[in-house]
Amino acid sequence: MSQAKKILKQYFGYDSFREGQEELVESILEGRDTFGIMPTGAGKSICFQVPALIMEGITLVISPLISLMKDQVEGLNQAGVHAAYLNSSLTAGQYQKALGLAAQGRYKIIYVAPERLVTDSFLGFALHADISMLVVDEAHCVSQWGQDFRPSYLKIMEFIERLPKRPVISAFTATATKEVRDDIIDILLLQNPRVVTTGFDRPNLYFAVQSPKDKYASMKNFLELHPGQSGIIYCLTRKYVEEVYGRLKGEGFSVTKYHAGLPDGERKANQEDFIYSRAQIMVATNAFGMGIDKSDVRFVVHYNMPKNMESYYQEAGRAGRDGEAAECVLLYAGQDVVTNQFFIDNNKENQDLDEITRRLVAQRDRERLKKMTFYCFTNECLRDYTLRYFGEYGSGYCGNCANCLSHFETVDVTEIAKGIVGCVGSSRQRFGTNMIIDTLHGANTAKIRNYRMDANPHYGELAKVPLYKLRKVMNHLQLYGYLNVTNDEYAIVKLTEKSEAVLLGKEQIMMKMAKEQEHPAKIKKGKVRKGTAGFGDAAFNKEEEEMFEKLRALRTEIAREEGVPPYIVFSDKTLVHMCILKPATKEEMLSVTGVGEFKYEKYGSRFLACFR
Ligand code: ADP
Ligand code: ZN
Repeated sequence: MSQAKKILKQYFGYDSFREGQEELVESILEGRDTFGIMPTGAGKSICFQVPALIMEGITLVISPLISLMKDQVEGLNQAGVHAAYLNSSLTAGQYQKALGLAAQGRYKIIYVAPERLVTDSFLGFALHADISMLVVDEAHCVSQWGQDFRPSYLKIMEFIERLPKRPVISAFTATATKEVRDDIIDILLLQNPRVVTTGFDRPNLYFAVQSPKDKYASMKNFLELHPGQSGIIYCLTRKYVEEVYGRLKGEGFSVTKYHAGLPDGERKANQEDFIYSRAQIMVATNAFGMGIDKSDVRFVVHYNMPKNMESYYQEAGRAGRDGEAAECVLLYAGQDVVTNQFFIDNNKENQDLDEITRRLVAQRDRERLKKMTFYCFTNECLRDYTLRYFGEYGSGYCGNCANCLSHFETVDVTEIAKGIVGCVGSSRQRFGTNMIIDTLHGANTAKIRNYRMDANPHYGELAKVPLYKLRKVMNHLQLYGYLNVTNDEYAIVKLTEKSEAVLLGKEQIMMKMAKEQEHPAKIKKGKVRKGTAGFGDAAFNKEEEEMFEKLRALRTEIAREEGVPPYIVFSDKTLVHMCILKPATKEEMLSVTGVGEFKYEKYGSRFLACFR
């Protein structure tokens, strides 16, 4: 067995590397700069933690997120690795103490916030330490084109330059677009780096989009079908968070909330309630989640459509990090598009940019929003759509998303398409989607009257077609280039060179429409601990179900004693595996995934006792 595999088993309790991990570990051990691009939950940390334990000297990990550092360091300490973090959550005294211990060589792995790097106190330590590797986690933060550019990340290069000896540099990110990747290599000055990209697919995640009339009722129904499970509900605004949280609380759900408007202390306490599983459901804005790697999140519901696919995939990806089945459901409404448009048009974050750049950024954001909207309307495989967005090729059918599992019929929408294209043309390509649809549907609004659209020849022409269907056809026409929407702030619908064929009836427009939308929870109910994650399709029997609950209770008890979140003790997956293997001896216990020697010493006998 290679040394890396031994370490993987001994400290982390895993039998094998996942896709990409071994290559990355080996590359680092060869002393080569290394760049890993892996989706959330793929297991990036192992890729630098394993070599860190093999290499002589200290590994520094740069991370922008305090919560992530804390979590990872706790996890490492639990596994018997000496690690520490240095960031603003420490008092001056604690910080000095930690630095002192670091200087004595007490830590193998040190997490540090980028803004600390070139401070005198940190340099005082670093310039005399034996630093063998520098890890840049969330490396997309160095790129202006990334989603979360952090100027403090630019200090990394300055820091490296000042070191007496250049360490091996490794960088990791989950952001896949090409421009950002190139940026990372250029800006971090990676030398002839080994670049490893693993697939972005997360097969254990089930995806669905719904456009319910009553979002709240639909979501509540979903929650009732998932009793006792951890989940996140993402909302677009603080107002929605408060509203959804309030109603759920009122109905007796175990729920907490998180958004940037809450006082620091409350936010932190709520986050911990969720992580420590004291609250089952977290209702939050996108401010929540960066760096939270609670591995047993069983569902992520988006109460609103987020602003782009990057955000969606990242947020949804917080489900099922333990590899067990989990669900990602997006509840769409037309208003979500309007709200996101508003955010783009009133973006305060880009005020430092000059006018031209700002306009470019807004344009790009609108384009991203458009692609997000298409996701909500596509009748094709949702996973396939997502993978294609990130530049990969899916199989076209995944069998684990709402579209793959729904029954569709192909319907002829040529007449509707004709009406839409005709209305766009006859109103001289001056209006956005809503105005066109309202006109065709014969709406009697002030806006319609003001622009005299009630006199348009197409007014009310499609009054009998339900609005949602009009929208679907409208989106289909845009997706396939029969119409185009401008990327400026007005989002005007324009004709294309393909429009005329529709108008002249030369082109038959066929599209897939759902016959019935099954509720995902109904399809997947009870699948959570059953038949997933490489344990075969054996469903838990009653006895195993009871055993699982027993192990879970023991885990909670230990977590309380140790003051760490339950999943840091053992993941759900580890408990499931135990239920299946029913270990009776130390050797058998060590063969359970996620049980390393250090953890065995600490908890092994207590868990073994459950099986006697
Ligand atoms: P990322 O940083 O890529 O989002 P993490 O490093 O947090 O992902 O890993 C996600 C989960 O997968 C963690 O619970 C981790 O312990 C687990 N994991 C990582 N590598 C392996 C492996 N080789 N075998 C089993 N589980 C693993
Ligand atoms: Zn699918």
